[in-house]
Amino acid sequence: MIVMKFGGSSVATADAIARVAEIVRARLDQRPVVVVSAMGKTTNRLLEIARAASAGQRDHALSLLYELRDFHLAESSMERTVEDHFQELSEIVRGLAVLGELTPRSIDAVSSLGERLSSLIVTRTFQRAGLSAVHADARKLIVTDHRHTHAAPQFEPTYARLAGAIPPLAAHSVVVLGGFIAATPEGVTTTLGRGGSDFTASIVGAGIGAREIQIWTDVDGMLTCDPTVLPGGHRVKRISFAEAAELAYFGAKVLHPATVLPAIDKNIPVLILNSRRPEVPGTLITADPIASSNVIKSIACKKNVTVLNLRSSRMFMAHGFLRSIFEVFDRFETSVDMISTSEVSVSLTLDDASQLTDLTAALSQFAEVTVDRDQAIVCLVGENLKTTPGVGARIFGAVRHINVRMVSQGASSLNLGFVVNGSDLLPAVEALHEEFFHELDPEVFDA
Ligand code: ADP
Ligand code: ASP
Ligand code: MG
Repeated sequence: MIVMKFGGSSVATADAIARVAEIVRARLDQRPVVVVSAMGKTTNRLLEIARAASAGQRDHALSLLYELRDFHLAESSMERTVEDHFQELSEIVRGLAVLGELTPRSIDAVSSLGERLSSLIVTRTFQRAGLSAVHADARKLIVTDHRHTHAAPQFEPTYARLAGAIPPLAAHSVVVLGGFIAATPEGVTTTLGRGGSDFTASIVGAGIGAREIQIWTDVDGMLTCDPTVLPGGHRVKRISFAEAAELAYFGAKVLHPATVLPAIDKNIPVLILNSRRPEVPGTLITADPIASSNVIKSIACKKNVTVLNLRSSRMFMAHGFLRSIFEVFDRFETSVDMISTSEVSVSLTLDDASQLTDLTAALSQFAEVTVDRDQAIVCLVGENLKTTPGVGARIFGAVRHINVRMVSQGASSLNLGFVVNGSDLLPAVEALHEEFFHELDPEVFDA
């Protein structure tokens, strides 16, 4: 068995889904299990609908809902199914408008609709294309905790359910299930966080003991830089799990950061492929470190980062300062991406600034706080960073004209990251890309 995951753009239209059917047909002998995202930008639309409804803009929410329904009607031939799902959604929308509040649990009730629907549409399209296909409800297979909107899978019961349900079906049919969506042990719908369909694919792969996990998307693979920042990067042919995880964590959206965990656990190779150019061999991610004459494998970026600078207001009580800080972040369930410290001052970056006002108020109890918005993280990743001398000099030489702050080398020592002003991101990445990818090791990169 192999797992094939198709992202939003790969199933954005009826034509795109028809192409997916052919990609799957060409691999039937490998007994594919297919995981799909919501169609196109559906998840964003659903979240807009939920926000509008709970803000009391009922009519606006409903008009967005009708637009999204019409899109699904036009791109599928499943009128009854589409109507039923949007009927259910319109009831939730009316409820949210009356209550005027949006809980994480209701967000999941709304945002799960995209994958619930796309998985049914893809199954039917496969059947119409003459494939033997069956639908499986991911909410009956993937068990999570109760952290709605970013639920964590409970691997043991999940693997047991997957191993029991999928292989008998996959023996004679292509099993299709929605990514991103799951449920608590009581059966309440949860989601795995934005971009979580990749994670579903690797959970399924680990649960059924797949030979390979394929992530089909809209780029040729992992590229040497983020194409939304700097186009023209080169495809990385091979990369290690550790490198891919660092890149994903620091912004390479092509892979959800948790994707590699189940794959590492069961040592299953992950392949990133382009559904518009299936002939391109993509990027192979495996456990082995990949030797290369290039010290850096890729440059990841995170935009719209907020930096908090904290200075202990009790100068002589530096002891306990860090503990107090982390206690606050824990209380607000806000994660910190990068941190640099000295005895009485600490800078840290957040990419979720939704709780900023409350966070700042709590931190101000024991620290002077200043906030810098619109910052960006640049992170260079490569296993050879560990062992190659002089890389720091090359990095900071390349960006010598740019104001660099908050430098951090991860404990894994296979990444080196720093923060720049948002407006300096492109020139920084351009200079670094030229420095590190001017020459390419043909074993590892596609020129
Ligand atoms: P999907 O809908 O298939 O899950 P995503 O939009 O989540 O696709 O991820 C693919 C996108 O990731 C690409 O279109 C690209 O813009 C972005 N991306 C960011 N960094 C990288 C990188 N280093 N290599 C390739 N793609 C990247
Ligand atoms: N549809 C979800 C999202 O947009 C999950 C995914 O596509 O991976 O975040
Ligand atoms: Mg994605």
